[in-house]
Amino acid sequence: MMKTQVLTNTTGTETEINPFRVYHFGKVQNDGNASMRNLLGGKGANLAEMSSIGIPVPPGFTIPTSMCTHYNDNQQQLADALMIEVDEAITLMEQQTATEFGSLENPLLVSVRSGARVSMPGMMDTVLNLGLTDIAVIGLANKTNNARMAYDSYRRFIVMYSEVVKGMDAEAFEELIDAAKSKAGVSEDTGLSVEDLKELCLELKKLYTELSGDEFPQDPKIQLRSAIEAVFDSWNTERAVLYRKIQNIPASWGTAVNVQAMVFGNKGASSATGVAFTRNPSTGDKTYFGEYLINAQGEDVVAGVRTPLPISKESAAQKCLDGQSMEETMPKTYVELTDVFEKLEKHYADMQDVEFTVEEEKLYILQTRNGKRSGFAQVRMAVEMVEEGLVDEKTALARIEPSSIEQMLSPIFNLEDKANAASEMVGKGLNAGPGAASGVLALTSAKAIEYKQLGVPCVLVRNDTSPADFGGMMAAEGVLTVRGGATSHAAVVARQFGKPCVCGLAALKVKESTGEISIGDKKIKEGDAISLDGSTGEVFFCKIETSASEVIQGIIDGVIDPNESEICKQYQTIMTWADKYRRLKIRTNADTSRDLKIALSLGAEGVGLTRVEHMFGSDDKLLLLRQVMLAKDEQIKTLALSNIEHFLKEDFTALFQTLNGRPATVRLLDPPMHEFMPHGDADTAKTAKALKITDAELRASLGDMEEHNPMLGFRGCRLGILKPELTRVQVRAILEAALELNSAYIPCKPEIMVPIIMHENELIHQRTLIDKVAQDLFAELGQKVSYSVGTMIELPRAALQADEIAKHADFFSFGTNDLTQTTLGISRDDANHFLPTYKNGVSDPLTGTGNFEVYPDDPFQTLDQSGVGKLVQLGVKGGRSTSKDLKIGICGEHGGDPASIDFFHRNGLDYVSCSPFRVPVARLSAALSAIRAEEVE
Ligand code: PEP
Ligand code: MG
Repeated sequence: MMKTQVLTNTTGTETEINPFRVYHFGKVQNDGNASMRNLLGGKGANLAEMSSIGIPVPPGFTIPTSMCTHYNDNQQQLADALMIEVDEAITLMEQQTATEFGSLENPLLVSVRSGARVSMPGMMDTVLNLGLTDIAVIGLANKTNNARMAYDSYRRFIVMYSEVVKGMDAEAFEELIDAAKSKAGVSEDTGLSVEDLKELCLELKKLYTELSGDEFPQDPKIQLRSAIEAVFDSWNTERAVLYRKIQNIPASWGTAVNVQAMVFGNKGASSATGVAFTRNPSTGDKTYFGEYLINAQGEDVVAGVRTPLPISKESAAQKCLDGQSMEETMPKTYVELTDVFEKLEKHYADMQDVEFTVEEEKLYILQTRNGKRSGFAQVRMAVEMVEEGLVDEKTALARIEPSSIEQMLSPIFNLEDKANAASEMVGKGLNAGPGAASGVLALTSAKAIEYKQLGVPCVLVRNDTSPADFGGMMAAEGVLTVRGGATSHAAVVARQFGKPCVCGLAALKVKESTGEISIGDKKIKEGDAISLDGSTGEVFFCKIETSASEVIQGIIDGVIDPNESEICKQYQTIMTWADKYRRLKIRTNADTSRDLKIALSLGAEGVGLTRVEHMFGSDDKLLLLRQVMLAKDEQIKTLALSNIEHFLKEDFTALFQTLNGRPATVRLLDPPMHEFMPHGDADTAKTAKALKITDAELRASLGDMEEHNPMLGFRGCRLGILKPELTRVQVRAILEAALELNSAYIPCKPEIMVPIIMHENELIHQRTLIDKVAQDLFAELGQKVSYSVGTMIELPRAALQADEIAKHADFFSFGTNDLTQTTLGISRDDANHFLPTYKNGVSDPLTGTGNFEVYPDDPFQTLDQSGVGKLVQLGVKGGRSTSKDLKIGICGEHGGDPASIDFFHRNGLDYVSCSPFRVPVARLSAALSAIRAEEVE
């Protein structure tokens, strides 16, 4: 049962509104506005908003998203009360447009489109030309004096209705169209005459009857009811469900349905249809960017079936299509269109993605929405829109997804390699999604997914992509299509997900049956190397090495001057703003001064985690640790300890020097023992020799030490407690390095961190030891340095006992890797045996089919907020109940994950620490969290 909705108007009066109502848009009656996106979906809300600011929008109405939920909750039944409203709304449309559903004189035709709260390009269904029947088609032909257009629309409608509404196989219908073309001796649909089209309509209807057992419906109201059902049903198609999963869109949102009077872009040479962006969505450049097709309907442009032409003269010239742009062929309408662009961009204060139709020179806008854009374009537009005074810094920042910064840092082709590959360049398509991709050729979505599972990078090549290819596109490094323009499905989806993409490489021949592609006399087959440059549109039949992005080259490698690079400058601006608004500090996990230097140039403010065990990387250093752990001879052990102290001191000095006074957290040894002990005969023999024992003796000792669950074994502080001499040399090395730097006036106040604490006594033991070692050292050297001692919170008991533990800690740092491992009881080392399946879904236990999703995200990448997150909350609360200002950070992998960073921000942590290349993403994510939190307040 639907609850009655109550609407409160500005004077505070409450009115009960019919929950089954529909919302009109257009000049005569306009019920909605842009703020009603949740109810009307993005498309519906914007149609109403555009109507209210005088943009020419064909009239219609929106069935709200709440009705989709109602439909799904009621066994896919449309409520009678809703259909009464729909009938009334159609009557109003008929009155406004002086038309009538199914009329022989003046038929009303409508489009029926989906429209969720957030745009889900191409994921759901659309039906155009609805209302055409055997009678209405005659009416349309007479009214417009254009029989060709009428029958062309009818054949499109029959096919669309059969496929979209009735789920019939597209191929059989395509075959009939191809047969009609060959019979008429033409290669394009536009070459079919009225008579050809009439005959084709008969054939198509016959096929419909063959496949369904019913006549093609001749009552527009029946057509409309089925189309509304089909759009609601398309909310739950496999591709829509996958898209929602990736984009975190709740199933409960539902889609709205927009029913709108049709206007015709296929009424001949003075009619057209197109899609345009008010700025370039690929580069962010402030130029109108779009495509149009004369004598066509909207679906022809977006589906990428015919390759459209550029709207602007300049881009047509660049593509050697002089004279063919809309600016040249329809100059008056083009000016009207660009006026609309200006108005819309100002009104929404954002780049717009606009669908338009020109019907005999009259311009109509069918849709506007904030345009999706590549990562590069997100950054550039944000910077330029602030410069233009269109938005403020916070608004601009809020529009940048953290992943765009990743895109800016991701590799490009190595220029020399690319030049060497010149002879393998086979063509140039549209540069639809920036970035470089190299991998093996995959011709189907399934193959791309298969390669991905095998860990083989691939490039997906298709004639044109349909939403069914979404999974393959996600799995591939890049996407190449033969047909379609920069606004085709492939391009829109690729840009959104930062996939390099080249579209419209018309000369390419794709033969799925033989697994080959060819261009001229060059041919490759599935599994062979292919590379594409989504920034230039170039395609190569070979592998090309990729290299550092412009930002990395300018900011880290110093091989280009960052002040000469627009991309570097935009990146810096965004980072400066991010730093201005974020509250969380950003540190890095670094074990060498080389990593640290990278992190510092990317904006890290200190080190949140140095893993001392990672300093034992070389064979000789590893041997020292083995000597301490296994030597029976005390002399060998003492010498090894002294050597460890010596090399650690040198490494810490280099690290602290690079930090130059910034915070430095050094985590005492936490080696999973199995990784550090000898493996294989040669290694065992070498270690035995260094220990001055026989191989057999060593094997016996190793046997004694062997653990079944090393990740839960002799690790962390357990090692420091049982082998205090190891803690001792580490602390001496840290403090000696700090003392030496301080005497050279380089500030350094190390933070010594104790790992894998589960009981406060463990920390008491290690802290007492650390303080004693420090006092002895200070006395020995006659010098002091200040330091602090803290602990990792990475076991559930530590989080639960945080108040007790905080009595002995100067700071906490959450080790969310181990905290996840131990809370979920999933070994970090073995998770991959089953976690990917959990994430991808298994079959439903009841039906044995479908997709039962056990666990949505990899908890080792994105914090399990409702489980592990609760322990983090308890840890923060407990720690600060003992020590109000306790400094708290996080240094597990989640420190570089945007959603997890948001959680840490909301829960009052002081800093996150992540790997060097994730520092920029963390800076931006922290700023976004701060801005979001302000909005909520
Ligand atoms: C952690 O457990 O989150 C952590 C940072 O420590 P490590 O990954 O070294 O176990
Ligand atoms: Mg750990």
